[in-house]
Amino acid sequence: MTGSTKYIFVTGGVTSSLGKGIISASLAKLLQARGFSVTIQKLDPYINVDPGTLNPYEHGECFVTEDGAETDLDLGHYERFLDTPTSQANNVTTGRIYQNVIGKERRGEYLGKTVQVIPHITDEIKAHIQELGRKGIYDFVITEVGGTVGDIESLPYLEAIRQLRWEKGKDCLVIHLTLLPYLRTTGELKTKPTQHSVKELLSLGVQPDVLVCRTEHPMGPGLKDKIALFCNVDARAVIESRDAETIYDVPLLMQDEALDEVVLEKLGITTFPAVDLEQWKDFLQRYKHPQHEVHIGLVGKYVELKDAYKSIKEALDHAGAENETKVHVRWVHSEKLKAGNVARELKGLSGILVAPGFGHRGIEGKIEAIRFAREEGIPFLGICLGMQCAVIEFARNVLGMEHAHSTEMDASTEDAVIDLMAGQRDVEDKGGTMRLGAYRCTLQDGTKAKSVYRRKQISERHRHRYEFNNAYRKRFEKGGMVASGINPEGDLVEIVELKDHPWFIGVQFHPEYRSTVARPHPLFVHFVKAAVKQGAVSLKAEV
Ligand code: GLN
Repeated sequence: MTGSTKYIFVTGGVTSSLGKGIISASLAKLLQARGFSVTIQKLDPYINVDPGTLNPYEHGECFVTEDGAETDLDLGHYERFLDTPTSQANNVTTGRIYQNVIGKERRGEYLGKTVQVIPHITDEIKAHIQELGRKGIYDFVITEVGGTVGDIESLPYLEAIRQLRWEKGKDCLVIHLTLLPYLRTTGELKTKPTQHSVKELLSLGVQPDVLVCRTEHPMGPGLKDKIALFCNVDARAVIESRDAETIYDVPLLMQDEALDEVVLEKLGITTFPAVDLEQWKDFLQRYKHPQHEVHIGLVGKYVELKDAYKSIKEALDHAGAENETKVHVRWVHSEKLKAGNVARELKGLSGILVAPGFGHRGIEGKIEAIRFAREEGIPFLGICLGMQCAVIEFARNVLGMEHAHSTEMDASTEDAVIDLMAGQRDVEDKGGTMRLGAYRCTLQDGTKAKSVYRRKQISERHRHRYEFNNAYRKRFEKGGMVASGINPEGDLVEIVELKDHPWFIGVQFHPEYRSTVARPHPLFVHFVKAAVKQGAVSLKAEV
């Protein structure tokens, strides 16, 4: 597209958790499927500089980008839908905005002015919003504003949107996502919360152009007209967003409602190519009509909160579709696993995945799960802490180092098979100081890892402080645990695998961040394939 970058804002009203991220990603997908280049960013109104220091119970998974930014999990959706990488510029928090403004003030950049929310904080927000647009490569920048309209914290963001709209005129558009609650007693969808939420936006000077209404039931005749009348929008721009079977249906549902066409027309783009979603539909076909099913255990300490493992769950789904297999995840709480119950708890599983994590809680349960997978020949994938636990388990139970541990859990262990990296010893700040983002890895010939990736050089994203201790490498190799992937710059062990096991791989990096609908990650694809081989149930007979 020629001409200036268009800015689309997505705000939320009535309640949180309506799925702004999925709506943003779905609209982006539709625009991309018409040949436009699109990126999505998320503005988060909390005061943490980034979500890296947040407990997963607070905020779900922390998603890591190629350039090592610790970001909101919605960026994971953006990447999985669009199959294009995001970066630090795609996520900004109030904390970062204030940090930048205060930094400028300390450097004297405001030339003696009083530094205020308006214009200094709002200018900083506007600069961030336009940073991606300034690259000149995007036709559309979609900006999702976290939180709910009416929150005190969101006010500077909405003010920034009001100003940008005024400045950019036709190049800006606001989509407001609201909820239509259903009252069972009267059998009706209610529009009043939507009306109030739009009023709230109007009181801040922002008139939405499009309303996306989340609803559990179809919107009856006349409802769109009613909302349109009360909220000053076209009836065609009132979009129904019904609960979907899977998030991957949402782009198609939005296409049925012509969300993308309404957006394009309102932005003054009148001619545009047809949507090409063939590959997406292919994926959905395989995802919804599997030939087999398998049960895979996900062992972690945050299993009550599935959002903590969002990218892993999605990567398993992508890999399942690729294998035409329905992957049922059994969420296994690592704190509850003991030597005495592990066989019972993990019974019937065709694959065991041990999750990333920090700190001591649940660590022994993870080690028990790994021992079980190793001894019973069950396909195993260990990610980050999961890989480190596999190393500890092997040291203790195969190499006879009874007290082997990671110095993260036991600083005075006699066999520190996992230890702090040299560059990490003097680090004091917790935020943004881990080994973060993409690093190269060279795969060793003749290993499973090499046969999975079918390449010599790979690059994967990291988020950890501790590493395999190279002082033990020879002993492990001799015992049958091979270092099959090595970071060439630091000679760091990135992948371990067992020689005498059907499929046992631990990775220091996070492959889940790179799995997308268009390109399911090979490690997940082969892990699910191994699980299918181990014990899939065919679904064909039922058809
Ligand atoms: N806690 C471990 C480390 O910092 C593993 C981190 C993770 O699983 N992401 O090295």
